[in-house]
Amino acid sequence: MIQPAPAKLNLALHVTGRRADGYHLLDSLVAFAAIGDHVSLQTGPAALTVDGPFAEQVPTDDSNLCLRAARAMGAEASIHLTKNLPVASGIGGGSADAAAVMRGLAAQGWSLPDNPAALGADIPVCLASRPLRMRGVGERLDAVPPLPALPLVLINPGQPLATPPVFAALSRRDNPGLPDPDWHDAESLIDWLARCRNDLQPAAISLVPVIAEVLAALDRAGARLARMSGSGATCFGIFDSPDAARAAADALTRPGWWTVATELAPLPAPGYISTKTGRK
Ligand code: ATP
Repeated sequence: MIQPAPAKLNLALHVTGRRADGYHLLDSLVAFAAIGDHVSLQTGPAALTVDGPFAEQVPTDDSNLCLRAARAMGAEASIHLTKNLPVASGIGGGSADAAAVMRGLAAQGWSLPDNPAALGADIPVCLASRPLRMRGVGERLDAVPPLPALPLVLINPGQPLATPPVFAALSRRDNPGLPDPDWHDAESLIDWLARCRNDLQPAAISLVPVIAEVLAALDRAGARLARMSGSGATCFGIFDSPDAARAAADALTRPGWWTVATELAPLPAPGYISTKTGRK
């Protein structure tokens, strides 16, 4: 059974605090792109094979999040991962893969782990694989108004960026939360997003300055809004039409950059798990 593991995009991400245990509190609008990894599962002894354009960058030992997800469910599965997404790039590849394994195993009757977030803060939202507002340390998910299928360009400049140093480079951790979600179409969503930020963006740029170049290039290519996702370094640009996104992606191809035209996926991935929505 093939499970999609769509790229996660933080369309907006505010860092609103820090808990005594060091975990940061976030307020983020999370959505998914129509591009991602794929995971296929077969019953059998625990094993992992990987192919795809970024296969060489993922561990294939026990530390791979696909195998850890199966282990967390007490399941034995033979897993094949097609790695289409760049690794350590702010679009949740590992969490998306782990969630896809959990979805696939749940469809075969295994029970989800009690605390999927223990494997990664983005796993609960990736299990749902549909637009949600994510708060706390990733465990609080609330429904949002429907999102349009916005045309997007995603660019990763080819520099892996681990998450902890980006949080460590933050100058403030007590920013206000997101404004109330109140969009009803693409224009009002873009207006709403323009009132938001990714608070991790300046910190990530201080570590990987080429992110600023990527954002400027998206702006010059006509993006209505350009922003970094997660802790970077992948950035997204929102375009007026699929043709405009494709033309921009063609124009923004550089050696070492991963550049794709895609769109927001307004509907959940098949087999999505919706039980976490609206939990306090
Ligand atoms: P996030 O947006 O949730 O911060 P990310 O996109 O920045 O995630 P990942 O691609 O999930 O980061 O990779 C983080 C680390 O996890 C990598 O350094 C990699 O070695 C490890 N890892 C383990 N399993 C996987 C997997 N299946 N895919 C990608 N990375 C994996």
